[in-house]
Amino acid sequence: DTELTPEQRDLADVVARSGESLLGVINEILDFSKIEAGRLELEQRPLVLRDCIETALEMVAVTATGKGLEVACLVDPGAPAAIIGDSARLRQILVNLLTNAVKFTEQGEVVLAVESEPEADKAGDVHTLHFSVRDTGIGIPADRIDRLFQSFSQVDASTTRRYGGTGLGLAIGKRLCEAMGGEMWAESEPGKGSVFHFTVVAEATPGPTSQPVTAALRGKRLLVVDDNAVNREVVTRQARSWGMVPRETGSPAQALGWIRRGDPLDVVILDMQMPDMDGVMLAREIRRLRDADALPLVLLTSLGRRSDDREQGVWFAACLTKPIKASQLYSAVITAVGAGQEDAQQPAECEPDRRERAGPQLRVLVAEDNAVNQQLALKLLGRLGYVAEVAANGVEALEALRRQPFDVVLMDVEMPEMDGLEASRRIHQEWPGDERPRIIAMTANAMEGDRETCLAAGMDDYISKPIHLDGLAAALGACAPESAQPERVLDPDALERLRAGAGDPAFVAELVDMFASDAPALLDTLHHALEEADAEEVRRSAHTLKSNARVFGATRLAEVCQAIENLARAETLQGVDELLGQVDGEYARVEHALLAAARGQS
Ligand code: ADP
Repeated sequence: DTELTPEQRDLADVVARSGESLLGVINEILDFSKIEAGRLELEQRPLVLRDCIETALEMVAVTATGKGLEVACLVDPGAPAAIIGDSARLRQILVNLLTNAVKFTEQGEVVLAVESEPEADKAGDVHTLHFSVRDTGIGIPADRIDRLFQSFSQVDASTTRRYGGTGLGLAIGKRLCEAMGGEMWAESEPGKGSVFHFTVVAEATPGPTSQPVTAALRGKRLLVVDDNAVNREVVTRQARSWGMVPRETGSPAQALGWIRRGDPLDVVILDMQMPDMDGVMLAREIRRLRDADALPLVLLTSLGRRSDDREQGVWFAACLTKPIKASQLYSAVITAVGAGQEDAQQPAECEPDRRERAGPQLRVLVAEDNAVNQQLALKLLGRLGYVAEVAANGVEALEALRRQPFDVVLMDVEMPEMDGLEASRRIHQEWPGDERPRIIAMTANAMEGDRETCLAAGMDDYISKPIHLDGLAAALGACAPESAQPERVLDPDALERLRAGAGDPAFVAELVDMFASDAPALLDTLHHALEEADAEEVRRSAHTLKSNARVFGATRLAEVCQAIENLARAETLQGVDELLGQVDGEYARVEHALLAAARGQS
């Protein structure tokens, strides 16, 4: 996050990536031994299927785009929006299959499909979900398929050298889905590609209605132009579920033909990368025939491949990155069709500006014996605007607490002399009731069950190591006492106004969800644009984030975005890096507060 030369950044990247990949190996081995020992416990909590799938796709999107692969996802409209299950484990299986598919495919596409089948003979609303990940990669010889699911097994010894990996992922995935009542199998043809299938059996549970289906989209005619058939299907399926009337073609020439002869259309979604005519060229041609008011356009691009064409904003009402997320598609289409968006932003723009800047005033104690982790925690806390003290073990932590009050203790679990669990119990004994600081566990044992141990010892929250800025900000944001925060993360009046304006708390909750699922991509764009020194893109994304933040009364976030926007408009990016760090931290707090507010009141 600080100034680095390009070379230093590369090296730091290598260190970070190596660390993460070692951590991956360790996690796989831990997982596997846990399974072998029969100690695997699955969470049984409501999970939103789409979120789980989309976050898994996001994790492979950058690599896939880098290789020029199309990644898409088709979810059966009949699938339950939410199920009872273990989202982390389900995502783990998906990420493994998707990562393999991308790893072993050099060109073509990777498609995740989900089908759902109700289980008639089971009590309750139980479904068998069938997931499949199809790729167009190197494939697997028939005589090797059986060995795939054995532990430590790869198709041949050269795989490890060429592609890395431990050969444990599929074995773990298979056991995990068996534990979820399903099975895993594969079909493949060498040179053509592979399909990995798995099923899980799960009970449906009421989830968020997937989209606030507004009447504004009903009956609207949408044209999708993309050379990739799966992407066309993703868009048309979604659009149909919102009551739109979609139409598709893989040929820009055919699309132009339809428009030329006057076929009625309300919005066009077009892909940037098409072989004969790219998205911008097609947009130019369409504009000769119809102006922006008559026919708004939405551009579909790959993550990180945003066309640097400055004119993009001129041609398109909205841009979407692949893999397409339902929520983003929805906002893009709504923006393009010009419905709802205007009204939602109006009151926010008139909100009085609060100028004074104040960091969150929490007194934080870090109880941690490992010097590297101490430094890391202090550094990240510093970035978030917190000042903290350090104690090297549980005994020291208790002494520090006796000396002066703290609001929060970030508590390592394994420490010499007195561990974090014991220290937490003692804190409860010594400071009963409200006087007690909040205790947030920091532990490397990111496994099911550890959380429970920490909570049982009286800790209030839990973040896993390595500590990430977002997680830390969210955990601290959640414990900021209102009075101790001169400037609140959210202006509650703004939410109230929004609710009153919409007349429907559920809609506000959906707006919040939409914001929370869109904002990370926006932040990515912002970071990316800054890296590319693209002032116009920085300005545009900061502007969008600011407007959204204002809608929800996230005043501080809006202010920082405004500052970035001002700098970028003046064509200077100096200082933006620093501000962007603040945006990241503040956004994590805002998201946390918003989701809590939306859950509490809708
Ligand atoms: P890892 O990828 O860590 O080696 P996995 O258990 O996930 O372990 O995969 C085992 C092996 O199966 C891989 O090394 C590879 O040889 C083969 N494999 C898995 N997925 C695919 C795929 N989509 N296409 C071709 N080969 C695959």
